[in-house]
Amino acid sequence: MPPRPPMQSTPARQVPPQTRSMPKPPPQVPKTAPKIPTPPKQKKEKEPIEAGYIIKNILIFIGMLAALLILGFALILSTLYVAPEKESTAYSYYYGINDKTPSDEVKVNRVVYINMTELSELCSFTVSGTKASLRFTADAGEYAEFTIGSVSAKVNGDIINMEGAALIRENESVWVPLSFGESFIVGMTFDKNEDEGKIRILRNKIPESSEEAPEYEPVTFRIKGSQAIESVGEDPYIGEMVDLGFVNDLSEYEQYMNPEDRDAYLILVNKTNTITSDYAPENLVSITNVRKDGRKEQMVECAEKALQALYIELKSAGYTDVSVTSGYRSYNKQVSLFTTYLQNEMKRDPSLTEAEAKEIVLTYSAFPGTSEHHTGLCCDMHNLGSADVAFANKEAYLWLKENCHKFGFVIRYPEDKVDITGYSFEPWHYRFVGRYHATRMSQLGMCLEEYVEHLNRSESN
Ligand SMILES: [Zn+2]
Repeated sequence: MPPRPPMQSTPARQVPPQTRSMPKPPPQVPKTAPKIPTPPKQKKEKEPIEAGYIIKNILIFIGMLAALLILGFALILSTLYVAPEKESTAYSYYYGINDKTPSDEVKVNRVVYINMTELSELCSFTVSGTKASLRFTADAGEYAEFTIGSVSAKVNGDIINMEGAALIRENESVWVPLSFGESFIVGMTFDKNEDEGKIRILRNKIPESSEEAPEYEPVTFRIKGSQAIESVGEDPYIGEMVDLGFVNDLSEYEQYMNPEDRDAYLILVNKTNTITSDYAPENLVSITNVRKDGRKEQMVECAEKALQALYIELKSAGYTDVSVTSGYRSYNKQVSLFTTYLQNEMKRDPSLTEAEAKEIVLTYSAFPGTSEHHTGLCCDMHNLGSADVAFANKEAYLWLKENCHKFGFVIRYPEDKVDITGYSFEPWHYRFVGRYHATRMSQLGMCLEEYVEHLNRSESN
């Protein structure tokens, strides 16, 4: 691409965007101004009034006036100078070859970055969200959302992958790869000149507009479907998730509901896929929305945070009485639970053999190693005295069934999958797998056993 001529005020702006500052007023102004007011007062009282002194005082007065005028003029000049910057149509920075700017200002791991925050000011985008996840919205409502540290971004509901992760740099500006701008920002031209080591970002002029009063194309984000996006080709479903319909701002939970390491939560534990006694999940934290009866329950942090988001929406929907009754169970806890149940059954009916008692216990409790609660990725929650299939008749359950996938959860033992899961219907038992897989499972109508098999099949093909 040929380098474009800068449109206005470019020479002064060939500095790194972070160091851009107001031009300083002429140096003599601040030096003269503060000196003047003090000396005349003292001299006035000690010495007789003479014509020379009056003239001197008048001169000092004129001097002060002049200094004030210069200061005022400098101020006006500086505002005039700054003002066009906001409306500027172009800015440029260097990325390495030119020694004015160190290369790491705009290059991170060999990816050239642009300052999205500055660009957004230039284009009057609205910025919303949290530090961790920021949304830039254009006039027409099109938006791009970046999660800091993540290569995934959202453009008008489409999840796209970038060349490098979104970053927060000096002055809390958000930086994104230049290639994001090239692919997804409309109404601007991104001119990367490798030979000159220069990036120029220019608003596109409307061709019919005059030279004196140029008009520019609106700057916005590419709307869905206008360009084939290779990176989402892998998942046709994600593209459909334009609006999750959350009534609260859950952007700070996004990284948990839709974790970057999206395949990390697919562990399958059931009666045939058992885990050993030494299995222990990492990052266990206390569950916030636990039943208020003194019990302490834990879950893996990512799942717990996603669960917090679920509760925020659940409560906003009016269901305030649902709470978690059970989370992580260690292998040893399950051993002691199972042993207690076994002893109780044999006490209740001394004629039972141990095998017979075990059969009975297995109808309501998992054998150690076969319980999904060992993973720390699931919880039991309901609004009844104890977990009961009657929960399926509650409106809160219908809400959970409809919405839990948005937060990364699935109903682990659905009514129509008893033959496959080996468990009877448990409307209270929710398993975290992350939004990506939860959504796909819900769209494919698969339980975890089927889904894991489906994934393995697709992989081997
Ligand atoms: Zn459970």
